[in-house]
Amino acid sequence: MKRYSAFAIFREALRQHQGWTEAWPSPEPRDRYDVVIVGAGGHGLATAYYLGKNHGITNVAVIDKGWLGGGNTGRNTTIIRSNYLQDPSAAIYEKSRSLYETLSQDLNYNIMFSPRGVMMLAQTEHEKRGYLRTERANALQGVDTRFIGPAEVKKLVPIINLDGPRYPVLGALWQARAGTARHDAVAWGYARACSAMGMHVIEQCAVTGVESAGGQVTAVNTTRGTIGCGKLGIVVAGHSGKLADMAGFRLPVESVALQALVSEPIKPCIDVVVMANTVHGYMSQSDKGEMVIGGGADGYNNYTQRGSWHHIEETVRALCETFPMISRLKMLRQWGGIVDMTGDRSPIISKTPLEGCFINCGWGTGGFKAIPGSGWAMAELMAKGNAPLADAFSMYRFREGRFIDESVAAGVAH
Ligand SMILES: Cc1cc2nc3c(=O)[nH]c(=O)nc-3n(C[C@H](O)[C@H](O)[C@H](O)COP(=O)(O)OP(=O)(O)OC[C@H]3O[C@@H](n4cnc5c(N)ncnc54)[C@H](O)[C@@H]3O)c2cc1C
Repeated sequence: MKRYSAFAIFREALRQHQGWTEAWPSPEPRDRYDVVIVGAGGHGLATAYYLGKNHGITNVAVIDKGWLGGGNTGRNTTIIRSNYLQDPSAAIYEKSRSLYETLSQDLNYNIMFSPRGVMMLAQTEHEKRGYLRTERANALQGVDTRFIGPAEVKKLVPIINLDGPRYPVLGALWQARAGTARHDAVAWGYARACSAMGMHVIEQCAVTGVESAGGQVTAVNTTRGTIGCGKLGIVVAGHSGKLADMAGFRLPVESVALQALVSEPIKPCIDVVVMANTVHGYMSQSDKGEMVIGGGADGYNNYTQRGSWHHIEETVRALCETFPMISRLKMLRQWGGIVDMTGDRSPIISKTPLEGCFINCGWGTGGFKAIPGSGWAMAELMAKGNAPLADAFSMYRFREGRFIDESVAAGVAH
């Protein structure tokens, strides 16, 4: 793999850009790999990357039924933050946020990490008390957050309306080192780095079955033939229930569509991310100038990977209260992704009843921010059989009543 650098850009400019090589090849699947990861979204690719980088396991294939990053990883609104309430969550999300800070250098791929700051508005007394509690929990966890008053909110976001028609802004939980990154680039960067280590990233290859012998996983059946594996990682977000079914176990997750939309591009007017959980909407401005707007999840289980009219209306109405200027904007595009929700709104990174088969899912509406940390933990779990960052997120916690309740921190889609 050729390194990307300012010098390389200069060199290629002189020779009509003829010297660039493909970022990752499209290999034919081999008969067998030490590890097969199903799902070439951010979490699957990051798992493969840290298997190679941290544990020296490189005989790995990452296979996807569609194109790389074509699931939720390429459909999300890219918010990265780590201001969760419970200790296991703060540990993995803060690890992830800190890995994001140097991910471009690590992968030699510009993922456009922008630590612009994220604020979560408090618009009821109840919400304010909740965020004050989170601020104190974060202080104990070493996560740098601060509850700020309305005047500071207005200073950071001049376009905000503090006296909304329904809910005034009472303050906000502010994480200055949180931000955004370019979602496709995260998937592309990991895929390129995995390929450079000799791993296979195989697109257009759907898994249709899981084979086992004596309670141990042995292979996956795919639309491109059977592929043997020593270990199997299932990392397919909204399709986790289906893959678990193939592997012979049940998961405590539900799949629903989650939606987002973007406006026409306008001049820079907001340089932080604002989440308004009470009215349910959040917004940031992309580098192209579009307002990136997050809506809600459908209230019923489904696999409908597309947007719907009522979500545009509800989300834009909510944001017009908070930012009256957006009432004059045209909306350009809307889309949906299938997210996997657990009962306690925390993820699952776990061994499964099938020996050698591991699962990473349940990131629901908020797993983009977790990609590096989740990959790090999942790789360690697959390589060593346990991982400090993952231990609390076992799927068996639902049977044992060890919930990691993040319904407040994850209450709005982000
Ligand atoms: C609209 C929207 C907004 C969001 N906003 C945010 C946000 O601002 N911040 C945040 O942190 N998170 C956000 N999220 C959540 C985040 O996008 C996800 O949690 C995260 O991307 C999940 O990544 P993943 O790698 O687990 O799954 P995915 O990226 O969905 O990858 C799973 C892959 O598995 C593949 N697959 C499925 N079935 C099979 C099969 N049978 N065989 C082979 N391959 C298969 C799929 O094709 C897919 O590519 C948002 C999600 C949505 C939909």
